[in-house]
Amino acid sequence: MPSSSREPGAPATAGGIPLCVPELRGNEWAYVKQCLDTNFVSSVGPFVTRFEEAIANYVGRAHAVATVNGTAALHVALLVCGVEPDDEVLVSTLTFIAPVNAIRYVRAWPVFVDAEPQYWQMDVGKAVEFLERGCDFRNGELRNRASGRRVRALLPVHILGHPVEMGPLLEAARRFGLPVIEDATESLGARYEGRTVGQLGDVACFSFNGNKLITTGAGGMLVTGDPGRAARAKYLTTQAKDDPLEYVHGTVGFNYRLSNVQAALGVAQMESIDEFVAAKRRIAAEYSAGLDGVPGIAPMRQAPWAESVFWLYSILVDGSTFGMTSRALLRNLDELGIQTRPLWQPGHLSPAHRGAFATDCSVAERLNRDALSLPCSVGLAPDAQARVIEAIAAVAATA
Ligand SMILES: *Cc1c(COP(=O)(O)O)cnc(C)c1O
Repeated sequence: MPSSSREPGAPATAGGIPLCVPELRGNEWAYVKQCLDTNFVSSVGPFVTRFEEAIANYVGRAHAVATVNGTAALHVALLVCGVEPDDEVLVSTLTFIAPVNAIRYVRAWPVFVDAEPQYWQMDVGKAVEFLERGCDFRNGELRNRASGRRVRALLPVHILGHPVEMGPLLEAARRFGLPVIEDATESLGARYEGRTVGQLGDVACFSFNGNKLITTGAGGMLVTGDPGRAARAKYLTTQAKDDPLEYVHGTVGFNYRLSNVQAALGVAQMESIDEFVAAKRRIAAEYSAGLDGVPGIAPMRQAPWAESVFWLYSILVDGSTFGMTSRALLRNLDELGIQTRPLWQPGHLSPAHRGAFATDCSVAERLNRDALSLPCSVGLAPDAQARVIEAIAAVAATA
């Protein structure tokens, strides 16, 4: 199949370099076989508990509840944090759409917060400014002055493997009495001021989708230090059973459980997490060094207070200096079998979430226009990475 018959950004064909594919070279096969050999294939089984313990230990949180995917974890996180219909939740506008959809699942509303230009994370200054100037307390409840709705939670998204600047956000959360839900789905292993993401807020969510740092095919996890919230999350994800024998259900629950087979993959993947993170950091360092001199290309950066896991290594393309736009570069690389991707349409521009409240979001719009994620699978071979770097430099030379 000629490469031009593929959608730009679609997985590269044979010989091509895909954006980000799983690495399954440890005990995955052996552990899945154990599930089949012991007949534990469904939602109860030793691997589910082992996987929950592995994530809880790694993140440094007392409790973990496995879920069918990261979006389900976010849905339940909002419920256990007390978000109710017509409430508002502050969320990063520059994110994959899942956390925003989860806010709508509980019939609440997103308030989109812009990205900051340096590390592309939620602009905490703009979030705090919104809380201080755009909201006031009425009858003990924090309300958005413009919409009149109650502001109920903060949902920062640690995008692309890098943490949000959590210090000032957590300080504001305390001051305004708001729970913090970390969407850490893209950043397992990242640290803010030495502390692992997932232990910074009240509740945090992880994803083990195929392109994430570790994968279970599909899967997610909610972690928290609060035993009450953990128990409530377990209850809600297992159909809210009050009496499992008599099938009595105290509220409307969900079937959000992870299967033992998927958890078996997760346990095996967690045995390699340190290697995976080291590989991602090595790949990032190679790109940053290799693209350093290319005019119009700004490599992804890491804040002095952060240890990024560089989940999706991305660059900014300054169209006028580089000689072509990020999308033109995407098409050029696609012709060479190199798969790249732009960042997500910001939430405040999403047709699905029209009418939601937003801060000024001009930075996110620029990042959406100029950013491109490069191939960065854990198993990316050095010669393949060199091909990507050379291709970008060569395209620049002919532009
Ligand atoms: C991947 C991802 C999720 C959750 O994804 P699932 O596919 O449901 O596991 C949530 N938020 C962000 C920012 C993500 O990138």
